[in-house]
Amino acid sequence: MYVSDCIDINSKGHLTIGGADTVELAKEFGTPAYVLDECEIRKNCRAFVKSIEDNYNGNGLVLYASKALCCKELCRIAMDENMGLDVVSGGELFTALSVDFPAEKICFHGNSKKYSELVYAVDAGVGRIIVDNITELETLNAIAAEKNKTVKILLRIKPGIDAHTHDFIKTGQIDSKFGFAIETGEAMEAVRLALDSSCIDLVGVHCHIGSQIFEIDPFELAAKVMLDFMLYVKKETGAELSELNLGGGFGIKYLSSDAPRPFTEYMEQVSKVVKTYSKELGLSVPFIYIEPGRSIVGAAGLTLYTVGVVKTIPDVRTYVSVDGGMGDNPRYILYQSDYEIVCANKADRERDFVVTVAGKCCESGDLIQENTKIQKVEPGDILAVLTTGAYNYSMASNYNRIPRPPVVMVKDGKARLAVKGESYEDIISNDI
Ligand SMILES: *Cc1c(COP(=O)(O)O)cnc(C)c1O
Repeated sequence: MYVSDCIDINSKGHLTIGGADTVELAKEFGTPAYVLDECEIRKNCRAFVKSIEDNYNGNGLVLYASKALCCKELCRIAMDENMGLDVVSGGELFTALSVDFPAEKICFHGNSKKYSELVYAVDAGVGRIIVDNITELETLNAIAAEKNKTVKILLRIKPGIDAHTHDFIKTGQIDSKFGFAIETGEAMEAVRLALDSSCIDLVGVHCHIGSQIFEIDPFELAAKVMLDFMLYVKKETGAELSELNLGGGFGIKYLSSDAPRPFTEYMEQVSKVVKTYSKELGLSVPFIYIEPGRSIVGAAGLTLYTVGVVKTIPDVRTYVSVDGGMGDNPRYILYQSDYEIVCANKADRERDFVVTVAGKCCESGDLIQENTKIQKVEPGDILAVLTTGAYNYSMASNYNRIPRPPVVMVKDGKARLAVKGESYEDIISNDI
């Protein structure tokens, strides 16, 4: 009935997640609160890990793209599920290392890594640094030389595939801030420079073609373009690259009408392309990385709010204002993202009330959803915005000095805190 398997309705007519009553959770932890179902997260992790076993004989590694939701507990879960981690900043790296995440299973991304972040990554011994540009390549080589180390890298390549949710186009898409374009020659130039850099060990290439992608074809095409490039590298330089990172971007259901292909299907089909096309080109099948973020945590989470005000503007619309908003969920104001919203304490009633759910920030655009159907609500009711596990907590801010909500983890009906909610004291803790 709902977009996510871990969500249901109990005998009281209350919405549940992972078997826990969300109305009780709202009482216990207050609102707003992010709630995640650990079993759902682990189920997703296992599906990806198993697919590497099944489709590549285990010759690969699933990296959880921690930017989707980064906190110690998620790093622990990823570690426990035998995954690696993709980090994009010193802060994400620090979070991972703080729970003793094995550094060699961490890949460090970013188009504008700071000098201090590169030093940190080299000192920590992260497994791979995904080099985005020539400046970074030169800086990294100098840092490694100074420390008498050799650093293993992948180069971030623009495969020229622009994937959207429902369709994709193959263009000479070189206008992206990420990575090296193939067709301009800069990717090959980066390969040559990397091969000539004494403290750099170029082991492979990386691409990431977009996010919330529903189709498999763009991924297949990207894999082919990357393999073609690996062959080109071999012909031009003699170097056989052994690793191929295909990025993340697997789409999830935000609305009941969304129909993403299951990611197990994606894994199976893309692996076929990788294996047969490698063979066709005379290349060994590379070690494969994939980097799911949203598809691990997105549908495993929801956000609970309390309705503050219901304001009907005759012949215009009804605003239902809640006690959170763009501070804890900036995705609507950023991308007009779709969400399903349910009144948690009236979950068994008809959703026939068309409303705009608004946040409490001083911005007219601070909305969570426009013209969406929910149950008839009144002040004090609890609203659950579904599918907020990814890119909500991780994108949260303290705009209007609103404290960030807690992250609550549910497992088999029992709840615990994964991240404490901020207090007003926390808000001023760095003020001088
Ligand atoms: C954002 C990102 C991911 C994860 O994307 P999802 O859409 O959350 O799966 C993986 N790899 C890279 C390089 C990214 O930038």
